[in-house]
This record gives sequence, C-alpha cells and structure tokens, in this order.
Amino acid sequence: MTGSATGSQASLREANRRRVLKALRAAGSLTQAELARETGLSPATVSNIVRDLAEAGILDVTPTARSGRRAQAVSLSRGVGVAVGIDFGHRHLRVAVGDLAHEVIAERMLTLPPDHRADQGLTEAASLVDELLTDTGLTKAAVRGVGLGLPAPIDTGTGAVGSTSILPGWVGVPAATVMSDRVGMQVHVDNDANLGALAEVVWGAARGCSEAAYLKVATGIGAGLIIGGRLHRGVTGTAGEVGHTTIDEHGRVCRCGNRGCLETFVGAPHLLELLHTSHGPDLTLRQVIDLARSGDAGCRRVVADAGRHLGVAAANLCNLLNPERIVVGGELAQAGDLLLSRSGTSCRVSRFPPRPPCCGSVQGY
Ligand SMILES: [Zn+2]
Repeated sequence: MTGSATGSQASLREANRRRVLKALRAAGSLTQAELARETGLSPATVSNIVRDLAEAGILDVTPTARSGRRAQAVSLSRGVGVAVGIDFGHRHLRVAVGDLAHEVIAERMLTLPPDHRADQGLTEAASLVDELLTDTGLTKAAVRGVGLGLPAPIDTGTGAVGSTSILPGWVGVPAATVMSDRVGMQVHVDNDANLGALAEVVWGAARGCSEAAYLKVATGIGAGLIIGGRLHRGVTGTAGEVGHTTIDEHGRVCRCGNRGCLETFVGAPHLLELLHTSHGPDLTLRQVIDLARSGDAGCRRVVADAGRHLGVAAANLCNLLNPERIVVGGELAQAGDLLLSRSGTSCRVSRFPPRPPCCGSVQGY
C-alpha cells in the first residue's frame, strides 16, 4: 500500500470518527443502529469506531432496550468532560453541570433581588459553580465550556449587556469577560431567547428545523430566530426583540418609549397588574398559572388574552420569516393549552422539558 493510500485511509477513519462523535454530541445517546442511520456509515464501521473509542475511554456503552429488543446505548463518556450552564432571570439564578451525554449531573437555583447589580449576581453564580463542581467531585479542568444566558440584548461588537429594564443593574457590563475572570474559565454569553432557540433546534420541539423561531414569554418577551439553520443576530446582536413590536399604536407607553408594544400586553408585570384589584398585590406569575390551571376565571381570562396577543405576534413572525415552527417557552408557556389554544387541542408540549420546564410548540399555523 502506498503512503498516500495509507494517509487517505487514516483521514477517512478520522472523518468517520468525527461523524460519530458529532452525532453523539447532538443526540446525547444513540444505539449503534441509530448511529449508523444518523451518520450514514455501515453498522460494521460504526461498531469498529465505537469499540475503539470505548477502549480509549471516550465513549460509554451501556445496555438498553429499543422496541422491546436489547441494544447498546452509546454516549460520550463523562470522563471526556462536562459543561456548565448559568441562567439569569429577572429574579432567579440557576446553575447546572451537565455531561456530554446531555444528563444534568447537578443543579441549583436561588432567588435574586429584582434590582440586583451585575457584580452581585456574578459573584453568586461563581460561588454556585464552585459548589456544584465540589459536590460532584469535578475539577475545573473537566469543564469543557461555560455558557451564560441573560434576558437582555448582548452587543456582538463589545460583548456588553444592552439596555434592559429586566436587568437594570447589568447595562454596559461585559458579562463574559467579568464572569470568565470570576470562575477562571472561558465563559460564553448570549441572550436567553437565542440560547432557547438553539436548544429547541438541537434537542427540542424544533429539532431538525432550519427555519424556526423561539418565543420566550416571561417578565419580558424575546425571540431567538433560526434562519437558514443559523441563529440570526442582526448587525449589533439585538435581532428578535419582538416584545417591542407594535400591537396598538395608541396603546400604553412601553419601557422602550414606544406605545402599545407586545410586552405591554403580555409581559408578566402587565398581567399581574390586571389582577391587582381582584387577586391582590402579591401575586406572582407562577401563582397566576397555577390558579388558571385550577379553574380561576380571572387568571384564565388574563392568560387567554395574553395568548391571543401572542398569536398576533406569532402571525407577524410567520409572515416575515415563513418559519417551519414557532416554539413558545419561558415561564408563561407553562400555562400550556390555556395560553396557546382556545380549543385546547391544537398545541403539544415540547419534548424539551424538564430544563427549562416551560415549552410548548405552535405548529401548523
Ligand atoms: Zn417597547
């Protein structure tokens, strides 16, 4: 055999290994038959690659069952590394450590004051990361990446957090740089709706879609847009601010200075204000959803009206982008059919729960 023939065989083998690893990164765990289907490689080739990578400690092979038949589940070994996710909300911080087979190993959440400053939030997050790694017996050397999601626009040029009333103490902060210094690891920061869109396309209700939108509906309203299979950020990273599309040009003044934005109809502060007289001043969005589910007429009305306004925004997105699917997530999406469907029959729960536990999908619009 010539040297070049040996070289091309080695590069083919390496390319096949990369295909197997890429499929497992995306899917978490697959049987060898599923791996063959996903990669287009022959079962014999997959079997050889899995055996070699398992012997090298890169893959784990465990017994499982598919359609009642015994099979071998293949996943990336925890020894290859773990990933850390940090999620900031208006009043919460959640940190999770997951392995590359998409299993969350440990997770912790705490409540933050709504007007907390960035340095306070980042300090809390860094402490939680350290605690979780210690609790799970992992070192920072095992962490392959740290991702941080914020409910705010992130300037793609400067990396700074843009204007937001949801996280007022964060504006102008280069969150990735500051957090990287705090935890001693490289941290990637993005808008949480963008990250939601990526998660839904890779693992969730929009899996396999090259044109999709993810609507995050909570304190604020944001969208992550997938166009041509890629996240669309716009010139400065603020694409997808659908919360500030106009629903009523004579409506209430929004925090952005315009009138009648979607957020003034669907954002949590507005929904709670609507129920202030009838249900008192201390109601939370979580309680509104629980009450609506248990039949409270006022909460059901508020959630259904929010769904109608959200439908207008979704219709506008459809006209603009012609997406294959729109996925609704965020805390209000936990209302499920009460939000998404008047008849209660045309929506389904995303397969993405339990983290975040909050997605439904709108299909066949
Ligand atoms: Zn606005």
